[in-house]
Amino acid sequence: MSSSLESLKIGIIGFGPFAQFLAITLVKQGHTLSATSRSDHSELSSRLGINFFRDIETFLEFNNDVILLCTSIVSLSEVVKSIPFHLLKKPNTLFVDVLSVKIHPRDLLLQVLPESMDLLCTHPMFGPESGRDGWHGLPFVFDKIRIRDQDICSRFLQIFEQEGCRMVEMSCEEHDKQAARSQFLTHTIGRVLSEMDIKSTSMDTKGFQTLIQLKESTVKDSFDLYSGLFIHNKLAQQELKNLELALQTVKQRLLDRMEIE
Ligand code: NAP
Repeated sequence: MSSSLESLKIGIIGFGPFAQFLAITLVKQGHTLSATSRSDHSELSSRLGINFFRDIETFLEFNNDVILLCTSIVSLSEVVKSIPFHLLKKPNTLFVDVLSVKIHPRDLLLQVLPESMDLLCTHPMFGPESGRDGWHGLPFVFDKIRIRDQDICSRFLQIFEQEGCRMVEMSCEEHDKQAARSQFLTHTIGRVLSEMDIKSTSMDTKGFQTLIQLKESTVKDSFDLYSGLFIHNKLAQQELKNLELALQTVKQRLLDRMEIE
C-alpha cells in the first residue's frame, strides 16, 4: 500500500472495461478516485469506493492531480473536445492517456490541452484478461511528452512500478511501429480465427490450443478498440496489406507445388 503522502487524486474520463480494471488496483494502492463517463457507471463505482459524476463540470471541480483518459480510441477526439478545461482548478493538472495507439492521442492532446497542463502518453500492454493475476513483469509503455511537475508524474508511474510492471520508456512513433507488427497483427489473426469459427476438437495439438486461446482473448475486446488500432495507426494499415500479401504468397507456393505433383 502507498503511504497517504504518496497517494494521488485521480479522475478517470471513460469508465469502461479497461478503466474499471485499472481502478481496482488504484483503489487498492490507496489513491482517491473519481470518474465520469458517457454511460451511467455509478452503481459499480460506489461498490469500488469511487465518486461517479454524470456531468463533467462537477467531475472537474474535484481538484484532481491526474486526469486519466480511458475512452475508446475512436471517441477520444469527441470526448476531449467536450472537456471544459477552464473549469479545472489546478492549472498544471497531469493528463494521462492509456490508448492502445500513441501518435493520435499525443497530437490531439497537444492541440487541445491548455499549455499549462502536463501530458504523459502511456500504454499498459495488458488488460482484464492478461493482467487478471497481477501485473508483474507486464510491460508498461510511456512517453513523457510535456512534464513540468516531475513529482506528480513519477508518483503516477510508481503505481505501475509498485505492481512490478516492466517500465518501457519509448517514443509514440516507436510504439506505433512496434504495436502494428505485434498487437494489431495479434488482434487481426484472432478476429480471422473467430470469423472461421474455429473450435476445440478431441485431438487438439498444443499449437491449435494456442490458436483457440488467441481467438477467445481477442474477441473479448470491443470492436471499437480493434478498429481504433487500425484507423489511428497508419502502420497497421500497411501491416494488413503485408498480411494479405503473405497469405497470397503462401497459397501460391502450395498451388505451384500441386502443379508439379
Ligand atoms: P473501448 O471499447 O476501447 O472503450 C470503452 C470506453 O470508451 C468506455 O468508457 C465508453 O464509455 C467510452 N466511449 C466509447 N464511445 C464513446 C463515445 N462516443 N463518447 C464517449 N465515450 C465513449 O474499451 P476498453 O477496453 O475499456 O478500452 C478503453 C481504452 O483503454 C481504449 O483507448 C483502449 O485502447 C485502452 N486500452 C485497453 C486495454 C484492454 O485490454 N482492454 C489495454 C490497454 C489500453 P461508456 O462506458 O460510458 O459507454
